[in-house]
Amino acid sequence: GSNYLVRTTDGIDRACKIKGNFRLKGIRTTNPVAVGDIVSVTDAAGGDTPYIISVEPRHNYIIRRSSNLSKQAHILAANLDQVCLIVTLFHPTTSTTFIDRFLATAEAYRVPAVLVINKIDLLENDSEALEYLSAVKYLYESIGYKVCLVSAKNGDGLESLKTILDSKVTLFSGNSGVGKSTLINDIIPGAELATAEISSIHDTGMHTTTFSEMFAVPEMPEGTYIIDTPGVKGFGTLEFEKHEVGHYFPEIFRYGADCRYGDCTHTHEPGCAVKNALDENLIARSRYASYLSILEDEDDDKYRKGY
Ligand code: GDP
Ligand code: ZN
Repeated sequence: GSNYLVRTTDGIDRACKIKGNFRLKGIRTTNPVAVGDIVSVTDAAGGDTPYIISVEPRHNYIIRRSSNLSKQAHILAANLDQVCLIVTLFHPTTSTTFIDRFLATAEAYRVPAVLVINKIDLLENDSEALEYLSAVKYLYESIGYKVCLVSAKNGDGLESLKTILDSKVTLFSGNSGVGKSTLINDIIPGAELATAEISSIHDTGMHTTTFSEMFAVPEMPEGTYIIDTPGVKGFGTLEFEKHEVGHYFPEIFRYGADCRYGDCTHTHEPGCAVKNALDENLIARSRYASYLSILEDEDDDKYRKGY
C-alpha cells in the first residue's frame, strides 16, 4: 500500500508514508517506491509520521508488467548488484527452461545472476543425481555464471554463498518450495520468514510476509543486503526483439558473432555459426531449446497483439 519501512541513516527503521508525485519516465508504475530505493524522508521530530519526499535516481530496477496488454508495471526492486536464483534439481524439480529464461531476463536487465542450487543434502547417496548435479554446475559455469551448491538444511555451502553476497545488494529469487525462506533464515536469523513446514501449521503466530523486504546480513561488511520479494517467481518477461534474444544467452551471443547475417535468429539462416556450434556440441541442447522457447513466445505475443 502506501506504507514503507525506511531505514534512516541513524540505523533506525521508520514507518513512513508517501507524499507527492513520483513518476518513472516512459512507463506507468503501480508503485512509486520499491524495495532497494534510496529515499529522503521528512523530519520525524514531534512524533509525526515521516513522509518520503524524493527518490534517488536508480542505477537499475526490475519490473513486472501488470498484464500483457497494459503498459502498467510494478517495480519489484531497485539498485541491485546481483540476483541469486535459488533452484533445486529435485523436490521440486526446477526445469532448465525456467533457469535459462530467468538468466536471459537478468542479462537483459544487465543484473549479474548467480545460480544457487539448494537441497544438495538430498542427493548424498544418489550417484546418478550427483552426476546430473555436476553436469548442471559445469554447464552454467562454462557459460560464465557463478554456481553455488548449498544445503539450507545442514549448512553446507553457506560460507561460499556468503562470499558471493559480500558487500553487495542481492535479490533472492526462486520458485516456491526450493527453500528460499529457509536459506534466508539461515543467513539472517532475525528475518524469521515463514517456511513451508511452519506456515502449514495453524496459528503459529509467525507472520507470512506478502511484501518485499531488504535485510542487512549480520556479521558481514556494511552494504551486504538481501532482498526478498515473496510470491515473485521470476523477473517477469521483457519484450525482446527476435534477433535480440540471442544477446541474452552469452554463449549464443559469442558464437553468433560469426553468423553470416547480423540479424541471424539462429534458426534457419544459412551460414549460422550458432547452429554449427550446436552440431559440434559446443552449445548445450537444453540451452538452445530454451532460446527457441523464448523466440516462440515472441511469436505468440505478436500474434495476440495482432501485429
Ligand atoms: P520457499 O518456498 O522457497 O521459501 O521454501 P521453504 O524455505 O519454505 O522450504 C520448502 C521446504 O523445503 C521446507 O519443508 C524446508 O524445510 C525444505 N528445505 C529447505 N531447504 C532444504 C534443504 O537444503 N534440504 C532439504 N532436504 N530440505 C530443505
Ligand atoms: Zn546464427
